[in-house]
Amino acid sequence: MKRISILGSTGSIGKQTLDVVRQHKDKFEVIAISANSSVDLLLEQIIEFRPKYVAVYNESSALKLKSMIPVNINIEVFSGMEGLKIISSLDEIDVLLTAIVGMIGLVPTLEAIKKGKDIALANKETLVCAGDLVMREAKKHNVSILPVDSEHSAIFQCLNGEQNKEIEKIILTASGGPFRGKSKNDLLNVTKNQALKHPNWSMGRKISIDSSTLMNKGLEVIEAKWLFGVGQEQIDVVVHPQSIIHSMVQFIDSSVIAQLGCPDMRLPIQYALSYPDRVECDFERLDLAKVATLTFEEPDLNTFPCLKLAYESLKMGGTYSAVLNSANEVLVNEFLEDKIGFYDIPYYIEKTLEVHNSISNPTLEEILEIDKWTREYLERR
Ligand code: NAD
Ligand code: MG
Repeated sequence: MKRISILGSTGSIGKQTLDVVRQHKDKFEVIAISANSSVDLLLEQIIEFRPKYVAVYNESSALKLKSMIPVNINIEVFSGMEGLKIISSLDEIDVLLTAIVGMIGLVPTLEAIKKGKDIALANKETLVCAGDLVMREAKKHNVSILPVDSEHSAIFQCLNGEQNKEIEKIILTASGGPFRGKSKNDLLNVTKNQALKHPNWSMGRKISIDSSTLMNKGLEVIEAKWLFGVGQEQIDVVVHPQSIIHSMVQFIDSSVIAQLGCPDMRLPIQYALSYPDRVECDFERLDLAKVATLTFEEPDLNTFPCLKLAYESLKMGGTYSAVLNSANEVLVNEFLEDKIGFYDIPYYIEKTLEVHNSISNPTLEEILEIDKWTREYLERR
């Protein structure tokens, strides 16, 4: 039995994680759940899964949830960052599934690692802002970081039984998002509703916008560098609109291994939780004759400058990726609030990177300070 705590149980990945648990109650047990403020859904999840602990980041929502829990249910309610840290490092858990959105997941994830808990990682922002630190801590505490992101799960599966030194390159596939094939001119005035319509995946709002700008792929390039210990020149992106090949690895003898499947996030979630075992399930099977055609094209870096900025931040090293990530979080939020246009996102990310003074080998405190600086800088602009 694997005992799980979930950061962000009410989101897209969180709900799909609970669906995996629902189908395998003999293998997985939910010990703790958490969310920002969605108390109604948390209550439903508490009634169904009977976790022992719940953390609600927003203090008044935590109080509200407390008042809603039926008297016959025994559960401890925590709040704030302290609450997230507590449910991430409980003695009773084996694995923390990080399905929270944004770099706010960093501190609780590090807390879990220090307590020796394995991490099933969906929260890519954590590795983008502090990949070096997180991987070093994981090594020190003998913790496995098991990827939930479908591309990284694919690479992880392709590398089973292989040696890292024999990797020539990693080929990340990208669906291309809702604006594939469009030019910069076509996209100058796109709205958030157009950007939120992903062709293949139904996801949270932030990652949906990131997919429309291709920043999601940029964040995934950085995530891949830290997870698999390769250089950025060894990571390629290819646009594959059908999202059937989830990613590939090319080895030094020219062989390419790929992982395929129908687009369904429950598969990489389940694999991260069941690893090293595979678990039987009823997910849709791939019918290649029905799919018929798999196509591939180069990403268009002119129309989607965010991908280029992510590569550049990685190349510049230090804390540039942390700034890229924090700036992107702020600007995506502003785009979702109709305060800025689509191309203001890469424009202001670039401006912020230009004025940033990078630090090499940053500590947690320095990364948190840089996040604060980035937010203040963009506030003042
Ligand atoms: P979402 O917006 O649907 O859900 C986010 C979850 O985080 C919610 O439960 C929310 O309550 C919680 N949360 C947000 N702020 C919080 C806070 N301050 N304290 C506590 N909880 C907080 O997002 P999502 O699509 O599920 O994505 C989650 C993460 O997984 C992101 O990092 C995303 O990049 C990654 N990811 C998502 C998918 C996908 O298919 N949705 C695929 C790959 C990776
Ligand atoms: Mg992905």
